[in-house]
Amino acid sequence: MRIAAFMLFLAATIWASATLAREEGLDLPDTVPMPEQRPSEAPRRPGDARPRFPVLLLIPKEDADAAAKLCKAVLDRDKMTAEIAGPALWDNGCGAVGQITISAIKLKDGKQIALRPAALIRCETAEAVADWVREELVPATEAYSGLARIDVAASYHCRPRNNIRGALMSEHGRANALDIRAIVMNDGRRFGVDLRETPIQLLSDLRRSTCERFTTVLGPGSDGFHEDHFHLDLAQRRGGYRLCQWNLPVPPEPARNPQRVADPSTKQQQSP
Ligand SMILES: [Zn+2]
Repeated sequence: MRIAAFMLFLAATIWASATLAREEGLDLPDTVPMPEQRPSEAPRRPGDARPRFPVLLLIPKEDADAAAKLCKAVLDRDKMTAEIAGPALWDNGCGAVGQITISAIKLKDGKQIALRPAALIRCETAEAVADWVREELVPATEAYSGLARIDVAASYHCRPRNNIRGALMSEHGRANALDIRAIVMNDGRRFGVDLRETPIQLLSDLRRSTCERFTTVLGPGSDGFHEDHFHLDLAQRRGGYRLCQWNLPVPPEPARNPQRVADPSTKQQQSP
């Protein structure tokens, strides 16, 4: 423990000195060298079952600057109400450099569509979500009294895919994904992939538009983990491979009326 505390202190001291020196205009390299052995990598005794805590990585200044510039450009386009979240990258693969917390999508008429709770998401993904809401979701919900709010099931979350231990890192861990639980209409109706009153036509519109705009779309029937929400992300895959897995509910059989079919007078009323 003493060694670990010392290493943390050493890393913090180096970082603080570098920040101070940079502010004072001293000529220092953009990245601060890390101690050779980080606390999390210290040798562990056999049988040591203590959890291994992730370590925050130092981000090269040019990467942080490029991400900040991209996020500023996204926010300047004024499509959302959001706050810049500090960059954070962890040695287990989690985190993002350019990310924001969105609390609402702004429409062209000035109306705001709230995201509840606010979503922490990287800037380019956030803009893709805002564009989808403004150009697809809002028009698709007009026939149902219009969109009032989006209920978010998850955004940034450092975890393996589907919370399965040992699985690959989820795009949620890279702040590159959004899970939508429900969309709420102006008249109070709440629609979602597992909510019975949701029009199938609306679900069909959402599936089409999300699969056109996002590289991964998962809904009911995809893998058993998306039965009560749908997932969007912008994962980049080799060969531009995209994933669109979302089964729509089967429409109920039209009600049959045997009496009408058997009635000869009904037959005469049928058009040719
Ligand atoms: Zn998800």
